[in-house]
Amino acid sequence: MKGKVAIYAGPMTDMEFREYPLPEVGPDDILVKIHRANICGSDLHIWRGHGPGMPRRRPTVPGHEMVGEIFRLGKKVRSDCLGQPLKEGDRIAYAYFSACGLCPACLNGSPACPNRYRNWMQDANEPPHFRGAYGEYYYLHKGQTVCKIPDELSDEIVAPVNCALCESIYGLDQIGIRLGDTLVIQGAGGLGLYATAVAKDMGAGQVIVFDRLPDRLELAKEFGADLVINVDQVDEKGRREIVFDRTLGQGADVVGEFVGAPQAVEEGIRLLRQAGDTSGWGTSRPGPDRTLIRVRSFAAPKPFGGLRCTNPGSCRGPSISWLGDAASIPSKRLFPPPFPLRKSTKPSPLPMRERPYGFL
Ligand SMILES: [Zn+2]
Ligand SMILES: [Zn+2]
Repeated sequence: MKGKVAIYAGPMTDMEFREYPLPEVGPDDILVKIHRANICGSDLHIWRGHGPGMPRRRPTVPGHEMVGEIFRLGKKVRSDCLGQPLKEGDRIAYAYFSACGLCPACLNGSPACPNRYRNWMQDANEPPHFRGAYGEYYYLHKGQTVCKIPDELSDEIVAPVNCALCESIYGLDQIGIRLGDTLVIQGAGGLGLYATAVAKDMGAGQVIVFDRLPDRLELAKEFGADLVINVDQVDEKGRREIVFDRTLGQGADVVGEFVGAPQAVEEGIRLLRQAGDTSGWGTSRPGPDRTLIRVRSFAAPKPFGGLRCTNPGSCRGPSISWLGDAASIPSKRLFPPPFPLRKSTKPSPLPMRERPYGFL
């Protein structure tokens, strides 16, 4: 029996399709039949040749946001990460990476394990072949967090759990949102919108969202934003005045950067109150000044932290249970209509916007 995958052969090139035999499933592993995969902003960065630190083995199967059902269950696999029994046919969400548990980062309790992608996007010609989301199957190795999906949650809603949603939850948890905080979210892509809704649920007093796309700003309101600002209509000075005006002259408690542009980080620091917190989710965009952030501020934020690494634990209970409780959030509107794998030759029919405050 064989399965199809879409192959990435190099930057900006058409995807090609290949078939590989379904692999034998190890006793601690799972072969997933993929129901749905998303095209995340990171996938577009990879396709365009960006993404420092991303796996570059070729030919390879890209994609990481996905959901599916257990097609073959390893003999020793009994339950998911919450102890729920697993059987073939169960729908599951899962992390596409896993920490090694042995390196200095792991031993110090950080999720920034440099070996965490060792099973993702490796050479597709080597078994078990199915190492990314853009295929009919995906091979889950021992150590990758697995969570059974309740029947009431659709594939559409669950597919971004292992990236966009869990990164938002993990990052806001790391920052430590406090009751009544004012947040500025720079960028109303998938992550920024989820962060808006999650922050409100965590007790944020007001969330102010920046973007330049009117449809995204409208969506941000439906995700709970108290105020949206179109960066094409209000310049940086005006944005700062609005944020300080709405915080009694103090500045935002937290700024979240979901854009992937260094200038957004710099602006975000200027929007903070004294000793406010800022963190970056959108950090893949290359540029000559990506390593230099010119800070002309006395706000003294805590050191800027990038959130390229996510605790795989965020993929389990918190994300799934939050989705179950967030029925009023129009998550379905985040996604364009799906298209079948066999008809796609590029990773996305959507052009990747070059300007900041775009789709992430
Ligand atoms: Zn993603
Ligand atoms: Zn490690």
